[in-house]
Amino acid sequence: MIRRAADYRDGEQLDCDVVVIGTGAGGAAAGATLAEAGIDVVFLEEGGWHPTSSMNPYLAESMPRLWREAGTTVIYGRSTFLYAEGRCVGGSTVINGGMTYRPPESVLGAWERTVSAELGAQGLDALFARAERDLGAAPQADYSIGGDNRLMAEGAARLGWRHQKNHRNQDHCVGANNCILGCPTGAKQSTLVSYMPRAMQAGARALTELRAERLEIAAGRCVGVHGRAIDPATMRPGARVSVRARHAVVVACGAVQTPLLLLRHRVGRPSRQLGRNFVTHPNAKILAVYPFSVGGWRGVSQWGQVREFHDDGIVFAENMAPPGAVAAAVPSLGRAAWRAMQDYDRMVLTGVLVEDSAAGRVYRGPFGMAVPTYSIQPADLERFLRGLRALGQLHFEMGAERLYLPIAGMHEITSPDALAALQPGRVRIPDIELFTPHLMGTARMGGDRRHDVVGLDGQAFDLPGLYVADASLFPTPIAVNPQITIAALALKVADRLAESVLARRAGRTVA
Ligand SMILES: Cc1cc2nc3c(=O)[nH]c(=O)nc-3n(C[C@H](O)[C@H](O)[C@H](O)COP(=O)(O)OP(=O)(O)OC[C@H]3O[C@@H](n4cnc5c(N)ncnc54)[C@H](O)[C@@H]3O)c2cc1C
Ligand code: SF4
Repeated sequence: MIRRAADYRDGEQLDCDVVVIGTGAGGAAAGATLAEAGIDVVFLEEGGWHPTSSMNPYLAESMPRLWREAGTTVIYGRSTFLYAEGRCVGGSTVINGGMTYRPPESVLGAWERTVSAELGAQGLDALFARAERDLGAAPQADYSIGGDNRLMAEGAARLGWRHQKNHRNQDHCVGANNCILGCPTGAKQSTLVSYMPRAMQAGARALTELRAERLEIAAGRCVGVHGRAIDPATMRPGARVSVRARHAVVVACGAVQTPLLLLRHRVGRPSRQLGRNFVTHPNAKILAVYPFSVGGWRGVSQWGQVREFHDDGIVFAENMAPPGAVAAAVPSLGRAAWRAMQDYDRMVLTGVLVEDSAAGRVYRGPFGMAVPTYSIQPADLERFLRGLRALGQLHFEMGAERLYLPIAGMHEITSPDALAALQPGRVRIPDIELFTPHLMGTARMGGDRRHDVVGLDGQAFDLPGLYVADASLFPTPIAVNPQITIAALALKVADRLAESVLARRAGRTVA
């Protein structure tokens, strides 16, 4: 059963075993696992259910439907920048690039040493394997690789740099290059086409276009959630709907919206860490223009990454996107922008991703708005500038005639010599334009109630019945794209929860 805003009656109440709030990488994985274990699951999802047949490359139509606030959400700090979150069934997985990386050994080793063996490479191995299988993580087929990706790989080879081919969660991807506006072929195994259909097949109900606003707490236990229908055309709140959960409430709204909801109830009092440890793995883009046809729009986005500088926390990725999105990286207006975009076929959009060295915080602001804060540090600025110089070198090596840079006062360069100006001192933190689609860490998982927000089972230390199953769980940054780690941790939470629900039903208790 899928319901939409127009279907709800004001004051309506529903019952279930477990309510799962959010249907992205974490929520859908957790909900499908619970439903397939025979548990009565209700999903609450703020966005709409948009089928594959509705996906298209029109930015003005697709972004308001699929991206929170049409992609205008902002992280405040010394270099205020945009972040991206999906708001639709499937969450950010509907608009993501589809790369599936496990965290490096160094990260899992640190989790094992400092958090628990359960979060080490061995402890998580079976869960990673399951998530990879469920989401179809596989090497990209050669026929779907565009000229831009080949050019990046060849540039890395010429410079003697390490280049790694991505695994992506896709099945017969044709390289339509529309990933960020929804896959129009259903090849990308977002949770919209993977875990959600499985959950529905197992009997789950999906209450879409319904925003969770507050939790129901009775006798010190979380027992449900109250929400309001959101009219998808006007975004106005409508009918009030509540869902009572006999066993548990699983919050999986993503690393910004999850703490926003939980801060309302002051969850995480023992550690006071809720909303803190917010990490973003930010990136800075270079848009390169070549004197020949590249045809980047004809192939998959993000076939590979340049990993030469990964040990220093720097990765280069190709990011070609539909024209409306690429235009955002063109630093001109009016006729000049129109002229620049006529070179679309000769463009290659690329990014420098830098691993977090600091953490920010998500606050609950006026009118219940999320206020995420995060600032890069001087050492990060140095890494960004080093990355931009090196990525710029690769483009000039491959014959680029022009680079559009994400630097205030230095928007366009036409010669490699100009790269030398990208130095700390000349470029300050507020001068660099950043962006992030990777939001993590605001309700971290661990074994210590004075340090962490939820336990290794995902349950809040100070609110029984409340579980978290999304990117908020990360104990630290992971230096790679996060979706497979989120799904693996959500499976872990769901397995334990399913066991305890089934045991309670049978009149047993689980340790
Ligand atoms: C443009 C882009 C590209 C990316 N590329 C990659 C990539 O290639 N590889 C990779 O590994 N990762 C990538 N990511 C990141 C990855 O998709 C996310 O990290 C992941 O989906 C986050 O999972 P989540 O469950 O924490 O949240 P989400 O997937 O964001 O899901 C949260 C869900 O909760 C819903 N929600 C929020 N608040 C409420 C509320 N109050 N009531 C009801 N529902 C609510 C939202 O609508 C959303 O559906 C990308 C992300 C973006 C945006
Ligand atoms: S490149 Fe095209 S076909 Fe492949 S996953 Fe992305 S949108 Fe789907």
